[in-house]
Amino acid sequence: MKSRAKYFRQRRQRLSRKKLCARCGTEPAKPGHTHCAACLAVKVVKAEISSAEIAKQVKAAKRKRLLAHLDLIEQGRQAVLSKLDVIT
Ligand SMILES: [Zn+2]
Repeated sequence: MKSRAKYFRQRRQRLSRKKLCARCGTEPAKPGHTHCAACLAVKVVKAEISSAEIAKQVKAAKRKRLLAHLDLIEQGRQAVLSKLDVIT
C-alpha cells in the first residue's frame, strides 16, 4: 500500500509533467507556477486568512503578558504601600 504522501507526490509530478494545475488537476497551470490562476487565488486568500489568524493569536498572547505584568505591578504597589503603613 502506498502512503498518502507518496500518492500526492506522484500526482503532483504527473500533473506538472502535463503542465496541469497541481491542486485541481483540470486547469492548465499558470506559466512559472504549479497552480492554475483560480487555485493560486485560493492559495493567496488562505495564506492571508492564516496570517490574520496568527496575528490575532500573537496579539492575544501579548495582551495576556501585559496583563500579567500589570498584576505584578499591582502586587508590588501593595507591598510598598503596606511597608509605608509600617513606617509611618
Ligand atoms: Zn487549479
